[in-house]
Amino acid sequence: MRSTPHDAQPLPRLLGSHLSVAGGMHLAVHEAQRLGLTALQVFTKNQQQWAAPPLAETAVDQWRSSLAQVGWAGPGPCRLVSHASYLINLASPDDALWRKSIDLMTVEIERCDTLGIGLLVHHPGSHMGTGVNAGIDRIAAAYRELFKRTAGARVISCLEATVGSGNHLGGKFEELRDLRQAIIAATGKGERVAFCIDTCHIHAAGYDLSTEASARAALGQLAQVCGLEHVRCLHLNDSKAPAGSRRDLHEHIGRGTIGPAGFGPFLREPAFAGAPMIMETPKGPPELDKARTSLPPEKWPVAWDQINADALRAIAAGETPTLVQTAATPTKPAKPAKPTKPAKAAKAAKPAKAQPGKTMARRSGASTTAGKTPRTPA
Ligand SMILES: [Zn+2]
Ligand SMILES: [Zn+2]
Repeated sequence: MRSTPHDAQPLPRLLGSHLSVAGGMHLAVHEAQRLGLTALQVFTKNQQQWAAPPLAETAVDQWRSSLAQVGWAGPGPCRLVSHASYLINLASPDDALWRKSIDLMTVEIERCDTLGIGLLVHHPGSHMGTGVNAGIDRIAAAYRELFKRTAGARVISCLEATVGSGNHLGGKFEELRDLRQAIIAATGKGERVAFCIDTCHIHAAGYDLSTEASARAALGQLAQVCGLEHVRCLHLNDSKAPAGSRRDLHEHIGRGTIGPAGFGPFLREPAFAGAPMIMETPKGPPELDKARTSLPPEKWPVAWDQINADALRAIAAGETPTLVQTAATPTKPAKPAKPTKPAKAAKAAKPAKAQPGKTMARRSGASTTAGKTPRTPA
């Protein structure tokens, strides 16, 4: 085969999704492969509980043998990502909560190490009114303890960019940079701390990604402030809410207020060649055009991943993605929730009816008891 002038690998090089671990963590590995993905994000424990029963030896064995089966074991690109529990707040001024958070984060790091997961994404946390600098100091102090406890662990902590609502840290690139610097000053372990950039989050935080030019400008700012080489993971999500809204509402790729154009610069950025690009887009069998999937109904919960992955591949190749039309009438009655319609002014060309998977990802798992229901991370 003739080699191409640049990179013969198809773009995006490491495309993945956050997949459910219901029925066993190893099943997510096979699901990723079936979807043609080359990266994967999971929760290694119930993300909404403090309690973490130890990993069963059989689960670890199954996970490892599944990785070997699909060719993901051993050295190679860092394809595996874990998302830490939402309960963790390393910035908390409350000592009891802070210590509990350090304990749970220790468990998260240890589990990743046991499972050979190279990247652990977590939200920086909330300073709860004490101010940005106090919050950063608190996280740095937490990391001093964490890295002492988990000396020798190979997993890299990725500080996730957030929408920056309320007292939550991480809504500005400068805050992420200062936080990483503070952790390095406290621990001396720069190789263990990186960033995760979520397109939905930074867009909602005010880094407008709705055009190719504005997305390039945002990437330029990111490069200047944080350094693209420290971005080890990306979350590729479109946004239901407009740029600057500070609302965290994930949307299918190309169908939100970002739109297809905004993803191009991220997908084609050479500095991200080795960084897993994880979709945390809504799941579920909403108004899916059944003609576009060969999947049986029991597989519909991940059918959207197939569609969103196709859209990303098309955008990466410089093509216009085929966006599946949704039915005019949703199959589920709309819940009496607050309206989530994006501002109409932001994208005049956008189909107004497109609200696929509305509320599914953020609400469907919240009321379950077993915690096994797939839930897309925020
Ligand atoms: Zn994310
Ligand atoms: Zn989110």
